[in-house]
Amino acid sequence: MSFKKASAIFTGVLVIFWGGMTIHHPKWYSFVYHREFDLTGFNIPIGIALIISGVVIIWIDVIRPRKDNLICPKCEELYRWKKSLGDKCPKCGTILEDLEGFYERHPELRYKRKIK
Ligand SMILES: [Zn+2]
Repeated sequence: MSFKKASAIFTGVLVIFWGGMTIHHPKWYSFVYHREFDLTGFNIPIGIALIISGVVIIWIDVIRPRKDNLICPKCEELYRWKKSLGDKCPKCGTILEDLEGFYERHPELRYKRKIK
């Protein structure tokens, strides 16, 4: 797991937790502002908004597939990811792979390309 994903999960969970806390405890004392905040009446919409924000943070960086640049391992054709394209190469039907790290995973192809 990348650092970006881990930090997105951490931030998302924190914001969801914060939303839950706001719903359950609408009154809290802030040590930053040295006063008590009372969100009674607003705690539920604010809490729900925070929970949704947390889910969106996790969704954007973790759940949503990030397949921007794909490569066909057979014909080495590059594709920009489109929903209509699916996961297969339109030419040969081979499952496309992420371009990121492709030549690290397939060093034999890198060698082949250098010879050409
Ligand atoms: Zn192909």
